Amino acid sequence: MTDFSILEAGIDKSDEMVEVRRAIFSSLLDGRVVSIDDLVDSFGEEVIPRIEELVDGGVAILDNERALIVGAEGISLAETAHRLSIGDISLYTWCAFDIVGIPAALKVDSRGVTNCPTCGRELRFDASRGSFDLGSEDERIVGFWPNSSGPVIANFCPSALIYCSIDHLREHRGGSFDGQALPIEDLASRGEVTWRIFSA
Ligand SMILES: [Zn+2]
Repeated sequence: MTDFSILEAGIDKSDEMVEVRRAIFSSLLDGRVVSIDDLVDSFGEEVIPRIEELVDGGVAILDNERALIVGAEGISLAETAHRLSIGDISLYTWCAFDIVGIPAALKVDSRGVTNCPTCGRELRFDASRGSFDLGSEDERIVGFWPNSSGPVIANFCPSALIYCSIDHLREHRGGSFDGQALPIEDLASRGEVTWRIFSA
């Protein structure tokens, strides 16, 4: 389990695909949408089926005209409930796991904000070179790791939230929640695995 990346499930692992994914991710991290025409200029027409594969796998999303990539690999340029700033770039993410996992993988300074889905409490996660120093009052915070398969953005992200305590996780999802409750340091370790192709 620990060496499995949810972003790699069902996606071609060729070097060419990794290059395309890195180009898209790096642009989004700079706060820039990615034009499909620009990707064709850089990678040739064969990039088109690769983009389709990423969209079908739930790791990239297009705008309505299907001309731009507006989110990928957990990063969104459209507003969501989860905010992540890296350096002076303000971004959004698909789930709460991303605001911990992405900085952990990239070893960057970051500021992340989400809310406990049960009580609405604001939960902040600031990283220094990818490591999180949480105060003792936050030891009860848990991230929910849902058991899921299929497209990541549809099946994993909506449930991958962070709760201020296991009690609030149970209150929101029911006592026999279908997944794991993880401390933040475990979310960070899973982030290192999940975004490993971007950290090399
Ligand atoms: Zn709460």
